[in-house]
Amino acid sequence: MAKLRSHRLGFIGTFALLSGAAITVLGLALAQIESVHDRADAMDHAASSAQLLAQVGLQPHVDRSDLANGLPPSAVEALDGAFQAGLADGQLTRIKLWSSSGQVLYSDQHELIGQTFPISDDLQEGLDGELTAEVSDLSNAENVSERQFGQLLEVYVPVEFDGEHVGSFELYVPWAPIAADIRANSNRLYLVLAAGLLLLWAVLFRIIVQTSARMRRDREELARRADENRRLAMHDHLTGLPNRLLFQDRATQAIAAAVRDGTGVGVMILDLHRFKEVNDTLGHDRGDELLQQLGSRLQGALRAADTVARLGGDEFGILIAGLSSEPEAQEVARKLTGALDASFELAELEIALGGSIGIARYPEDGAEPETLLRHAEVAMYVAKAARDPFQLYAAEQDTYSTDRLALVAALRRAIDEGELSLAFQPKVDLERSAVVGMEALARWEHPTRGPVFPDTFIPIAEHSGLIRRLTSYVLRVAIQQLAEWRATGLDLPVSVNLSVRDLLDPSIVTRIQELLAASDVPADRLFLEITESSMMDQPERALATLGALADIGVGLSIDDFGTGYSSLAYLQRLPVRELKIDRSFVMHIMTSRGDAEIVRSTIDLGHNLGLSIVAEGVEDEAAMAFLIEVGCDVAQGYYIAKPMRAADVPSWVRACAWPMLVDV
Ligand code: C2E
Ligand code: MG
Ligand code: MG
Repeated sequence: MAKLRSHRLGFIGTFALLSGAAITVLGLALAQIESVHDRADAMDHAASSAQLLAQVGLQPHVDRSDLANGLPPSAVEALDGAFQAGLADGQLTRIKLWSSSGQVLYSDQHELIGQTFPISDDLQEGLDGELTAEVSDLSNAENVSERQFGQLLEVYVPVEFDGEHVGSFELYVPWAPIAADIRANSNRLYLVLAAGLLLLWAVLFRIIVQTSARMRRDREELARRADENRRLAMHDHLTGLPNRLLFQDRATQAIAAAVRDGTGVGVMILDLHRFKEVNDTLGHDRGDELLQQLGSRLQGALRAADTVARLGGDEFGILIAGLSSEPEAQEVARKLTGALDASFELAELEIALGGSIGIARYPEDGAEPETLLRHAEVAMYVAKAARDPFQLYAAEQDTYSTDRLALVAALRRAIDEGELSLAFQPKVDLERSAVVGMEALARWEHPTRGPVFPDTFIPIAEHSGLIRRLTSYVLRVAIQQLAEWRATGLDLPVSVNLSVRDLLDPSIVTRIQELLAASDVPADRLFLEITESSMMDQPERALATLGALADIGVGLSIDDFGTGYSSLAYLQRLPVRELKIDRSFVMHIMTSRGDAEIVRSTIDLGHNLGLSIVAEGVEDEAAMAFLIEVGCDVAQGYYIAKPMRAADVPSWVRACAWPMLVDV
């Protein structure tokens, strides 16, 4: 009840009420005490006046013997005179003089003189020498004539001669003026008291109001800060977007809503393709700016009910609530990648960026936010590897992800512990039937799994950051091998495959230079193969590194040509010497007219650019014959030789079934 009231009135209202009540009670108590005190004071004062009157105005008219024997008429007369004077002054209403035996020696009512009455308690006190006073009300007196006197103060004043109490005056003094005095006094006092207490209450009230206002401000400030902290803990500080924590929270809510409404939820992960390059070349500030721009673009592409979160780095999470179907998920993914279509403006540069989205759906791909996120990530990796703008999660992809994690650890160990080796595959000049080089291909013999293929572990190395060490290892072994063969008179150029990440690492140029110098191998003996698609990923960066590599004299090849989308204009700017037509075209030249045409026109195009053309994946004689007919320069494939161990290369070259020369 009290709680209810304090809730309704508020803190200040409750305080005002309670303190008001307490102060009122205090005021009343003080007033009560004071009025009792006042009345006693007034009575004392009146009694003293009466005593003075008796002792000065009355007692001198009697002497000691009168008190024992009764008053002579002269004394009665004198007392009558004194009484009349007192009556006239309003000081007296009635007088009696009592003997110690209870006889009335004098009274203004003469008929009472000489009569004896039983001694009352008050009279006894007066006879015993004590001054006593008492208010008596005559308004209802038996004697009707006395009723007119109303309230009177009855004072007994002892009569004393030579230190002996011999009688007592009984004086009646009008009480009304004394009472009026007391009332006037009390009223003044009540006024002062009320004013004082009101002031006290006002001061207290003011203090409480101020304190409560300060407390309310403090409370609001604390609540505001708590809100802000909660917001910060749930948001990414750079983009202001929700972070992973909030994303998961919203995903949980979206799933609960989907269960209720019988709909679905889409969880997507978007990963940028070239973010690291922007960061590395333009600086972190520009990278940050890019993420901010992207964050608002993604938000703009979605409904208000959907969530874009920054999950970390260049990874964004997208939550689509109430998703109904697979095509709807694809539609949203298309909108999101569409948001990347327009280039970004950074430091007055126009930067085009691609991204890959992985999509997982509730309920099809999982019931927990964590599972959906993990599956979306798997799908994102698959999309990225396939260079698709987006991919829906499929259960088969999962082996990819778990395997991938295990393989990353195994690959790291493999590089350190020498489980990797190189196989070499010859390249043959078709016109001169001469071996013109060897391509070094990485091989991994896993101690328990057996051979793991480059198509599996190279992408893993690229995504896990192990590629740099892998490339260093391959370059070192290949260059050592080159030097060894040269020492035995077999001066075969060796090609090493580089990955896109290697091109982003400017130190690759000096590393290669140092390796060549250490083995005393001329730079033009080393060829570096870069896949067309990886170059197109970051054309400007690739161009810079390729330029530097060409400057130190190594040969450059474009690998897997035909799988990327390089423009003629771009190709012309590249300092490359060789174009390798992707094996997927070469393998089908005899069955697909389209592929045959592609190969033919690629050869023409390459020749126009002054490049040597290599056909990869030559698997049979017919393909070989076709390539010779269309003027292809060099062939590589199982028909000539499968990749072989380094130790087998010299004997293969010597015992070569072809009427071939080693082109030295
Ligand atoms: P690639 O550079 O295009 O290498 C040629 C691939 O075609 C090799 O596969 C080779 O064994 C295969 N091949 C050769 N002749 C034929 C043929 O007649 N028919 C068929 N079907 N295939 C043939 P491999 O060794 O599995 O390598 C696959 C890819 O892995 C390579 O393609 C290359 O891109 C990458 N790779 C291999 N080693 C390295 C490396 O050390 N570093 C980097 N960055 N990538 C590497
Ligand atoms: Mg290659
Ligand atoms: Mg290739």
